[in-house]
Amino acid sequence: MLQLTPTLAARYKPATDREVYSQSFGLLKAPRNPAATAWEQRRGTLDDQAIFGPLVDFECACGKYRGRQYQNIICDHCGVKLTTRQARRQRFGHIDLPVPIVHPLGQSGEPASAIPVLPAAFVETKGGGRLADVYDEMVRSVACESQEGLTTAFNRLLELLLPVVLVAHEWNLQEADVLIRGMALVPRTRPAGSLCSCGYPLEGLDVFVCPGCGKRL
Ligand SMILES: [Zn+2]
Ligand SMILES: [Zn+2]
Repeated sequence: MLQLTPTLAARYKPATDREVYSQSFGLLKAPRNPAATAWEQRRGTLDDQAIFGPLVDFECACGKYRGRQYQNIICDHCGVKLTTRQARRQRFGHIDLPVPIVHPLGQSGEPASAIPVLPAAFVETKGGGRLADVYDEMVRSVACESQEGLTTAFNRLLELLLPVVLVAHEWNLQEADVLIRGMALVPRTRPAGSLCSCGYPLEGLDVFVCPGCGKRL
């Protein structure tokens, strides 16, 4: 059975739709298209650079802009932001659900109508192929409004990510926070009056390193 460790359950809670939207750079609405030859055919898929960031540093998908002199502009044609590939480690997408589903790892939380999609760099790893398949499955289930398909795919996503998240937390890997957000979980904000042992006020912050003393919380 899918379950968070007590430590993780104390630190994270299911993300609200607003939290999912606020970190998303675009809506995933179609499965990958292996036959695609043009950027237009990759719109709204895992291969959409307008959502997940450029494949090549400072190059947009349509070829209109190329080069560092265009840094940080967004191509008016293909919508890709001219930045480095590094963006592919940070830019989330999301999937809109026709019927909200309850997060199996939450305690009676509100049903979610949006599921985050991890940044492309995670999907491009050796194990990421299975992840991509799950996202495609979710998008297909949305298209045919299959509640059962959605629930199955969401559970599959959590099953894939949970072991990785546990390892990432165990080893304090930088990616731990991004990965857990991929499970539609977010840090619980610290309650009123929370202080670090150094005295720094932590109320409302969702950081895990104290901004005051740098201690891991
Ligand atoms: Zn372009
Ligand atoms: Zn501190």
